[in-house]
Amino acid sequence: MKSFGIRYFRGIFFKNNLMNISNYNFSNKRALIRVDFNVPLNDSGEVSDDTRIKMAIPTINKVLNDGGSAILMSHMGRPKDAQDSKFSLNQIISCLEDHLNRKIIFQDDCIGDKAFEITSSLNPGKVVLLENLRFYSQEKKGDKEFASKLAKHGDVYINDAFGTVHRAHASTAVIASNFPKNKMFGYLIENEIKSVKRVLESNKSPLTAIVGGAKVSSKITIISQLIKKVDHLIIGGGMAYTFVKAMNGKVGKSLVEDEYLDLANEILKNSKENNVKIHLPIDSMCSKEFSNSTEITIRKINEIPNDEMGLDIGPESIKIFTKVINSSQLILWNGPMGVFEMSNFQKGTISIAHAIVEATEKGSFSLIGGGDSVAAINLFNLADKVSHVSTGGGAMLEYLEGKDLPGIIAINN
Ligand code: AMP
Repeated sequence: MKSFGIRYFRGIFFKNNLMNISNYNFSNKRALIRVDFNVPLNDSGEVSDDTRIKMAIPTINKVLNDGGSAILMSHMGRPKDAQDSKFSLNQIISCLEDHLNRKIIFQDDCIGDKAFEITSSLNPGKVVLLENLRFYSQEKKGDKEFASKLAKHGDVYINDAFGTVHRAHASTAVIASNFPKNKMFGYLIENEIKSVKRVLESNKSPLTAIVGGAKVSSKITIISQLIKKVDHLIIGGGMAYTFVKAMNGKVGKSLVEDEYLDLANEILKNSKENNVKIHLPIDSMCSKEFSNSTEITIRKINEIPNDEMGLDIGPESIKIFTKVINSSQLILWNGPMGVFEMSNFQKGTISIAHAIVEATEKGSFSLIGGGDSVAAINLFNLADKVSHVSTGGGAMLEYLEGKDLPGIIAINN
C-alpha cells in the first residue's frame, strides 16, 4: 500500500486523547449532544429506518449512566427555515423513547424560553429533545449568536453527528468555541474516525476501493484521491460507461457524461503512473428501457447496440471483481454496481456485497461508506457482516479525500 498524507489523523485525532467521552465524568453535568436524527419517515410519519437513532444511544447512555443529563439537538430534512410539522422531531419521540427505555422531554423551539427554563435546572437522568435546528436559518448559516444561544443549554458539548461533520453549521462546528475545555466527540464519530484511520494508515495490502453509482462527476474528487492510495480500483455502476466510451467503446444509450471523457482518460493515465490497477466491467446487463420489465441481454461492455443501455455489471465482471476483492486485505466500497433498486439489475451489487462479506470473514477489513452502498448493504441484510458501515455518506467521502472537516476541527482546535 502507498504512503498517506493524512494530516489530521496523526496530529489532531490523538491530540484530544486527554479528554474524551470514555474518560470524562458526566456526573451532574448537562451534556448538549449534537446527534443526527435525520431519519426517514413513512407516510404515517413513523420512523422507517431507525439506524441513526440506534447509533446515538451509546453516547447518550454514557452520559446518563455517569449521572448526567442529556439535551439532544438535531436537524431533520430540509425545512424552509421555518416551523413545519412535516419536519418536526416530535415524530421520532416514541422511537427514541423505545431505544432509551425512558421518557423524554420534547421542546418545540430549540431556543425558546421554555426550553431554557427546563434545561437550566435539568436533573440527572433526564433527556430533553430540542425541535429541528433547521427551523432557524441561522443553523445552516453558522450564525455565532444562534450557536451561543444553543450553547446555554449545556455544560459540556458532544458532537456525535458524523453525517453533518463536513458542514460548518451553528450546532456542528461554530458552537464548539463556547466550550473551550468541555467539548468532545461521541462514540459514533470516534468509531467513524477510527475506521477510516484503520484503512488509510494501515500497512496491510492490497487495498481495494470499489466505486460505483450513477455519475463520474459526483465521485471525481474521491477517485482522484484514491488513485494516490489504493492498489486496485474497481469501477462499476453507471459511471463505468463514461470510462468505456473514453476508451472508444460502444456503450449505446448507457449513462455517459460526455464532458467527463477527457477526465476519464486522465484518470486512466494517472492510474498507470501511480501503479494502480483499474478494473472496469467487461460485460453488462443491458435493456432497451430503464425498466424492470423489459428483456435483458448480456453484452460485452464495449459492444452495446445503440438502442440498449447497461444497467448492471455482467457475470464475467462479477467473477473478476470477486477475485480482486477476495485477495484484498482492506476494502473500501462506495456506490452500487447497477440499478440495484430494480430486482433485475441487483445481481452485480449483491455479488459484490457478498464478496466483501466473504473477504471480511477471512480477516480483511471492510469499510462501506456512502449513501447508496449503505442502502444496498442494508437491503441485502449484510450490514453486520462487514467491518464498518459509515453513517455519513458525504462526510465519509470528504474525510477519505483528506479534507479538513469543520466539525472535527472545531473539537480538536
Ligand atoms: P450515487 O448516488 O452516485 O452513488 O448513485 C446511486 C445510483 O446510481 C443508484 O440509484 C443506482 O440506481 C444508480 N445506477 C447505478 N448503476 C447505474 C447504471 N448503470 N445506469 C443508471 N443508473 C445507475
